[in-house]
Amino acid sequence: MSTFTWSYSSLKDYINCPRQYHEVKVLRRFTKRVTAQMRYGSEVHSALEDYVREGKPLKKNYEIYKPLMDAILEIEGDRYCEHKMALDIDRKPCRYGSGYWVRGIADLLVVDDDVGFVIDYKTGSDKYPDPNQLKLMAIMAFAHFPELQTIKSGLLFVAHSNFITEEYTRDMVESMWEQHFAPDLTRLENSYQNGVWNPTRTPLCGWCPVETCEYHKGY
Ligand code: SF4
Repeated sequence: MSTFTWSYSSLKDYINCPRQYHEVKVLRRFTKRVTAQMRYGSEVHSALEDYVREGKPLKKNYEIYKPLMDAILEIEGDRYCEHKMALDIDRKPCRYGSGYWVRGIADLLVVDDDVGFVIDYKTGSDKYPDPNQLKLMAIMAFAHFPELQTIKSGLLFVAHSNFITEEYTRDMVESMWEQHFAPDLTRLENSYQNGVWNPTRTPLCGWCPVETCEYHKGY
């Protein structure tokens, strides 16, 4: 039995700064500000989802993304938009809403026999792509769709027309887990057990919501 539930973004928050994670996610003493960039990202995501799911025309300012999305729509197979997946503590598939240990939403999942496609839309910069999110989605998709043997995945940076791709096979699940998630999850578990939430000082501390931290610019 784990003491916490997690998602890719919450684990990333912990990796970035355990103290911020603790103050924001555990104690809930502070909340992260919703930036204009985040709002734009949500709007684009839902516009792309509506276009892929039901062919709803893209608004004028998002029409530039149409050729990219049309290319994605050529992938054959059963399409799942904004597909919710969750695993229990034994990494078995379970319901998204309750009894889960980890959960996430694939922007687009296409299942074509034993091959799956997992695509995540990105509206920000493509300078430092982070494919670990794709790995977690692939691990969950392999669990939820036992017929899948291969998953082709990609981070689609819509504003840059850049597609960062990776391919996984079912026999890679254990090594992906051990290499990319288990060590940080062990650290997170230890933080919960021992109550140790060290700060990670970075140049971004001034924009952190934890105003009481000694590294916050206004403290
Ligand atoms: S100010 Fe910096 S060190 Fe302090 S909690 Fe925020 S991110 Fe972490």
